Formats: sequence, structure tokens, C-alpha cells
Amino acid sequence: MAAASPILAQPATANQRLTDSHGRIIHDLRVSITDRCNYKCIYCRTGEVGAQYPELTIEEYLRLIKLFVDLGISKVRLTGGEPLLRRGLVEMVRELARLRTISGEPLDLALTTNGHLLDDLAAPLKDAGLNRVTVSMDAVDTETFERITRIQGSYQAVLAGIRAARAAGLTPLKVNCVLLRGFNDNQIENFARFAREEGVVVRFIEFMPLEEGRLWTPEIVVPLNEIVDRIGRVLPLVELPAREASETARRYTFEDGVGEIGIIAPGSHAFCGACSRVRLTSDGKIRTCLFSQVEHDLYGRLRAGSGDTALREYIVATVKGKEARHHIGEPGFMKPSRSMVHIGG
Ligand code: SAM
Repeated sequence: MAAASPILAQPATANQRLTDSHGRIIHDLRVSITDRCNYKCIYCRTGEVGAQYPELTIEEYLRLIKLFVDLGISKVRLTGGEPLLRRGLVEMVRELARLRTISGEPLDLALTTNGHLLDDLAAPLKDAGLNRVTVSMDAVDTETFERITRIQGSYQAVLAGIRAARAAGLTPLKVNCVLLRGFNDNQIENFARFAREEGVVVRFIEFMPLEEGRLWTPEIVVPLNEIVDRIGRVLPLVELPAREASETARRYTFEDGVGEIGIIAPGSHAFCGACSRVRLTSDGKIRTCLFSQVEHDLYGRLRAGSGDTALREYIVATVKGKEARHHIGEPGFMKPSRSMVHIGG
């Protein structure tokens, strides 16, 4: 069968191209395709609340994503909830892989997953055109991992998923770990060894006040400097230069050049000034910041019959109002109405 031809983006005019009022170019779209999750990670979910928001059809997500691509988005990351739970995911990736950016390139297609179902899905996703996956993993021993995810057998499943993703060529393979003092900060040094042994880039992420319950305090966050000091004491680190201005992680290798770790520190070393991201929730709302207090109902406009031109204008106007920065840890900080699992991390 002849390969389906690529779908070219409508060229955006200079004043259509997605920029916000702070001069940042927005080229990175994160799309949540479900807020269901098969894990109940203790720092993310209360364990009681399930899905809270409706899902769109795969065709509707594709139509909305195409509008963003017409406006200059070049990187799309699928997330959730747990995106591997979403039926039709592989076909969705295949369709996304046919899209072309406004400069005629294929999209940079990535996915964030807990990895539980990745063993079976890694190869089909790669075949469909996915470039990379990021696997979330908050411990490197069975007992701690299962205590965090509250799912038996999760550690072995995720390890198998990571290895399948690497074998399928979904690389560079990143493993994201959220550190919480007193929960899993005893894993830091072993994660550094894991990065070297498994050939993955381990990235530590500072815990943010985006949980369903009320766990966040400044004290529970393990800041960047502490992580670097602790790893450096057992495996000396060498800082790597940033590859692009909007890179969120500080990157390090080890003295022998084998392995890489990164630290994403939205609290202690905020990177809002270089933010290039915008989000689409599973129910089709635009969020211009993880910590936005307002959402913008793109899907509602589509349902009401707005055409592509009007929808693109709405996206452009919405992105203009992107917040300058978040206010984590400042007096008067307010958590957003949705938690991470319902926004799409
Ligand atoms: N289920 C997928 C997964 O596990 O990667 C995608 C959704 S999950 C919400 C995305 C990422 O957000 C995970 O790496 C998770 O650890 C992280 N996360 C959840 N709550 C967080 C918080 N309060 N602060 C920082 N990261 C958080």
C-alpha cells in the first residue's frame, strides 16, 4: 500500500505565529488524552478520586492539534492521566506523524507515561512514528516503588517497559523522578547508578504544589543543589551546557562521561522566562501555564461550530495572555483548580 502523504500545515503569517505578550515563542504543545490513570502515586493522587473530566475523540484531538501546528507548534507531547490507557493511541500517533510543521518538517513527537503498559506498546508506537518517551519512575527498588504507586508488580512492569522502549529505539530515553523528602529521597544515589546501568537519562523533578491532596510544603521539596551535592559525593558530576534556551533541565554527566542525569527545578531554579509551552487538557481546554487560574475552552468553540480560522484566532489571542511566571512559594500563591493528573504533566 502506498504511504499516506504528509499533511502540510497552513503557513502561519508572522503575526499569526504563536508568541505571548512577553516575547516568548510557543512551539511546544502538551496534550492530555485522558485524565484516567492506573497508578495512584501517593504524592499525586488521593487514591479516591478517579477521572474527573471528559475525553474528546481521537479525531477531535487531531483536529485541535493541527490548528496549533498551523501556528508554529513543532513539538507535541502526549500525556495524561496515563496516555497508554487511551484506546486508539497508536493510530493517533500514526496520524500525528503525517503532520508537517510550518517549515515542512515532521513533528517532534513524544509521550510521557508511567510505563506500566509500555512493554507491549513500545514497538507499535515507534512503528507509528513516535520519536521518544519519558517514563515516570520514583524509586529503583520494588518495595519503595510499590509503596508510591500503590500497585503490586508495578516496578517489574515499568522496568520491562523501559527496556522495551530502549530496544524499540524510543531514544534518548528519559526517566523522570519526583523527589519527596522522607518518601523517596533515599533513592537519589541509586538513581544515578540506574542511569548509567540502564542507559537512560534520569531527571529529578522538584515536587510542585499540584497534588490532589495537601502534601506540598517547601520542606518536602528536595532542591537542585542538594541533589547535585549528594550524587557528587559518590559519583562526581560534570555539568553539561544547555542545548537550547527553553531547556528545562540542568544536565550533568559523570567524570568518565558515561551516563547523564538532569534536574528540573521549577521552584528553586525557575525557568519561566524561557517557557515555550502551552497545554491542552483532555476535555479540550487550553492552559497557558501549569499554574493558570483560568482555562480557555477551545473545544467548546469547536463544538459550537467555529471554523478553523476562528479557532486559530482564539488560540493566538489566548496564548498572548500567557502568564509571565508562576508564583510557587510566594505569599498569596493559589493552587490551580486542577491537579497535575487532570491537567496533563
Ligand atoms: N501518567 C503519566 C506519567 O506517569 O508520566 C503522565 C501523567 S503524570 C501526571 C506526569 C508527570 O507528572 C509524572 O512524572 C509525575 O511524576 C509528575 N507529577 C505529578 N504530580 C507532580 C507534582 N505535584 N509535582 C511534580 N511533578 C508531578
